[in-house]
Amino acid sequence: MTVDKSRLLALFERLVSIDSPSFGEREMCDFIKERLARLGLTAREDSAAEKLGGTSGNLYCYVEGELEKPPLLFSGHMDTVEPARGKKLVRGPGGLLTSAGDTVLGADDLAGVAAILEALETLLASGEPHRPLELLFSAAEEPYCVGVLQYDFSSLKSREAYVFDLTGPVGGAAYQAPTILSFTAVFSGRAAHAGFSPEEGVHAIQAAARAIAQIPCGRVGEATVNIATISGGTASNIVPDRCSFTGEIRSFSDGEARRLLEEMRETMERAAAENGASVRLESVSECTAYCTDRSHPVVKRFEDACGALGLPVRLCQTFGGSDNNHFATHGITGIVVANAMNNCHSCGEYTSEEELERAANLALRLMTAE
Ligand SMILES: [Zn+2]
Repeated sequence: MTVDKSRLLALFERLVSIDSPSFGEREMCDFIKERLARLGLTAREDSAAEKLGGTSGNLYCYVEGELEKPPLLFSGHMDTVEPARGKKLVRGPGGLLTSAGDTVLGADDLAGVAAILEALETLLASGEPHRPLELLFSAAEEPYCVGVLQYDFSSLKSREAYVFDLTGPVGGAAYQAPTILSFTAVFSGRAAHAGFSPEEGVHAIQAAARAIAQIPCGRVGEATVNIATISGGTASNIVPDRCSFTGEIRSFSDGEARRLLEEMRETMERAAAENGASVRLESVSECTAYCTDRSHPVVKRFEDACGALGLPVRLCQTFGGSDNNHFATHGITGIVVANAMNNCHSCGEYTSEEELERAANLALRLMTAE
């Protein structure tokens, strides 16, 4: 049993033609709902839209199965990064699929959504017995997975997940992903006239600069640290009383990420005190590290499915977060599967007919696996 290639390509083209920037996935959500309804399935949207100020919630669908096995979760995200408005699929030589060059293609993650929907359609039309399946199409994944964070994970029955959201050749899958801590530091000093009474002032920018100069950036052991934005001051004749900067820390070890954050806090407090300023450091844990055991059945099933399709398996780590981090946090063991997308987050994003077909057949194999 294999997917219908021309139906898959038409579906992908249609998905690409729908604008679905993060927080603006309304039309995409409605399209997927309708597509599932055509298969006799009812999808349920949660209330994430109201909570996030977006136009669409996360979309969930339960597919009953005849096999007396626990359900499997298949997931992808409905939103795309910008520039994403007016996307159009352009067919190139050798089955190459790109955007017109002025937007992203949106294969991240619409190639994943297409693969899951086409696999399901093929499966249901075949009448083959299969496991119960759960589908979850999340909203607003790109901005640190804020959509799925609103999801009621306790309502999911599956304990194993395949998240179709990884770049590179189909056959690849990530079993490990990091903790990502983002932070904002606000240095407070005292404003004074820079010409008349600079000695009255406490220079917040200088305090922040002193701290930044002492914070290691880039690769720090196996972690990464980035200071990303900085702002402060009001006018050239005023000693600045405020300076803030933002950044992030990533590590495969949650403990190490937190340790680096505390080290950073000490450095900032020392630098602030040396300048007579004060600092407030706030951090958000965007996602928590996980490592799925490579001998886990969720990995074994993936390897078997790739083997059956003649796809070389490539298990890897990723230093990016995905919805799978949040599944892992809630006790669902999963991997992030390559779904026919390349050069993501750029107008040079591309996929190919062949790869799309592989991704959909992979989804189908996983859905029918014992
Ligand atoms: Zn993605």
